[in-house]
Amino acid sequence: MELLTNKAKQVDRRPMNFWERLYLISIAKGMWITLKHFFKKKATISYPEEKRPFSPVFRGMHVLNRDEEGRENCTACGLCALACPAEAITMEAAERLPGEEHLYREEKYAAKYEINMLRCIFCGFCEEACPKDAVYLSQTVTPASYQRKDFIYNKKDLLIPNPKNSN
Ligand code: SF4
Ligand code: SF4
Repeated sequence: MELLTNKAKQVDRRPMNFWERLYLISIAKGMWITLKHFFKKKATISYPEEKRPFSPVFRGMHVLNRDEEGRENCTACGLCALACPAEAITMEAAERLPGEEHLYREEKYAAKYEINMLRCIFCGFCEEACPKDAVYLSQTVTPASYQRKDFIYNKKDLLIPNPKNSN
């Protein structure tokens, strides 16, 4: 049969001789490899004490944007969810009521907006699909957790602080 690559290795199935059964040579070889790595530059870092600089195009945690008046930009059009190849985004739309103009920029808004970070592949398609500049990927790394439910981000986790409340 023709091989697809030249990476396949033939397994040596001959019975081991006396020296091979002692494993001394194999142990010495293993120790030599370990010893060589002592003097090499470490490939790993002691995260989180040390942090590597991110690439300028790094995509991290999502953020839901507000306009300069603090109103939510998202109009629950669903384009981000449609563009998402991982089906990580879900939302529920609601109609803006009279008196809520200071909360939502458009007549329709996302009453519920969720991103499942365990599904997300950080491709950035949602950001590109959004016509309202409402969702973008920040440079913040998604925090680790032992609980799956902690990776379902809702509006409370995603919305940026209201600039009007920061004064
Ligand atoms: S970054 Fe990609 S995978 Fe993640 S929510 Fe946006 S579109 Fe979906
Ligand atoms: S984030 Fe943007 S694309 Fe997604 S529903 Fe809101 S307005 Fe539409």
